[in-house]
Amino acid sequence: MFSRLPAEAREVLEYTLTHNRWRRYETINLIASENVMSPLAEAAYMSDMMHRYAEGKPFKRYYQGTRYVDEVEVRAARLMGELLGGALVDPRPISGTTANASVFRVLAPCGGKALIAPVQAGAHVSHTKFGTLGALCIEHIEMPYDPENMNVDVDKAVKMVEEVKPHFVVLGASVYLFPHPVRELAEAAHSVGAKLVYDAAHVLGLIVGKRWRNPLDHGADVMTASTHKTFPGPQGGIIATRSEELYKPISRAVFPYFVSNHHLHRLPALAVTAVEMKLYGEQYADQVVRNAKALAEALAAEGFKVLGEHLGYTKSHQVVVDVRPQGGGAKAAKLLEDANIIVNKNLLPYDPPDAIKDPSGLRIGVQEMTRFGMKEDEMRQIAVYIRRVLIDKEDPAKVKREVTEFRKRYTRVHYALDAPGVLEEGPDGVKLRLLY
Ligand SMILES: *Cc1c(COP(=O)(O)O)cnc(C)c1O
Repeated sequence: MFSRLPAEAREVLEYTLTHNRWRRYETINLIASENVMSPLAEAAYMSDMMHRYAEGKPFKRYYQGTRYVDEVEVRAARLMGELLGGALVDPRPISGTTANASVFRVLAPCGGKALIAPVQAGAHVSHTKFGTLGALCIEHIEMPYDPENMNVDVDKAVKMVEEVKPHFVVLGASVYLFPHPVRELAEAAHSVGAKLVYDAAHVLGLIVGKRWRNPLDHGADVMTASTHKTFPGPQGGIIATRSEELYKPISRAVFPYFVSNHHLHRLPALAVTAVEMKLYGEQYADQVVRNAKALAEALAAEGFKVLGEHLGYTKSHQVVVDVRPQGGGAKAAKLLEDANIIVNKNLLPYDPPDAIKDPSGLRIGVQEMTRFGMKEDEMRQIAVYIRRVLIDKEDPAKVKREVTEFRKRYTRVHYALDAPGVLEEGPDGVKLRLLY
């Protein structure tokens, strides 16, 4: 299709528009931090707004020509706030990490202290001295881990908050089966004048779908999130709070400290996704949680060591499997990729930190396959494919052919508004002409 183009351009377009369709239409994608937008949200994303600038706040910009962007941004923020049970929302951070940076910058000075969830309970690199906290020269102190509950050790953590008197406490995680104890730690934080930040990057979609506790209802002062993990919007971040006093300085940190322009085409896509989540979010989140549990149970039944059995395996979109008997995380993830099943290798709570290149586990997320209409039966089928590759040691190429056929039955995005005539499909299905 691109044969008349110069080779450099042709190759890039083929990789992007032809070959990478494999990820969307031929693989069982189980990366826990990914999702797909609806066709309508994608159409809203592919607009002229991607070329424009709008530094500052709506109706108080440093640029002319922003009147429609302003209207969209106000709506995106309002819709997200409504979905969170009433909150002031800043939708300008271009990622979850940028959202965290803006909040952390305001809540502690350089040299200040933050208590964070232990790495074993899934803390994200941005919560650590190796990431955003380090860049802001805020000291990170890990709260103790409770292996039995696979969570923050609440009693010890409360004592630690009282002793250390941090500027803020961070909860929320990337590897995440069970909710962190927000209420207890918010109370402890408030008793020493500290704030509780809840990083909902992974679980935002479950929160707005009411299948995960809304941290703002349980004492969190500020919530940050990515808008593209369980929340199926464009890649980006938000900050939400019910406190005007916090909202103002944090918003002043987003711009100009961490973004100048905020990638405006995200905003209409975020707003459209918010409308869809208002309509279908509860159904979607319910199915995500059911699917995760079904997949965990099925994998255990097929002979895998699935973490959290004594706690019911999972309450989130994730499943975590110990694949040491199958040769370790790196090998298992590669074999599965060869069979068109995409997962990531992951450290398990009992791995040493230096096992990062070949950790013991796999982290699996079901949210994207749920969006494509899969339910509990499909989860059981996926568990069989995984068993055939990793336990029966069947040739991945053979399983791949079956996976590809199976996946072809699930290509429509569910829990989404219809978008008739929005996109035109080219000869091999490439979206050729978009709305603008
Ligand atoms: C993914 C993630 C982030 C970072 O989000 P980006 O949007 O990728 O910057 C922050 N916190 C947690 C807990 C995450 O899992």
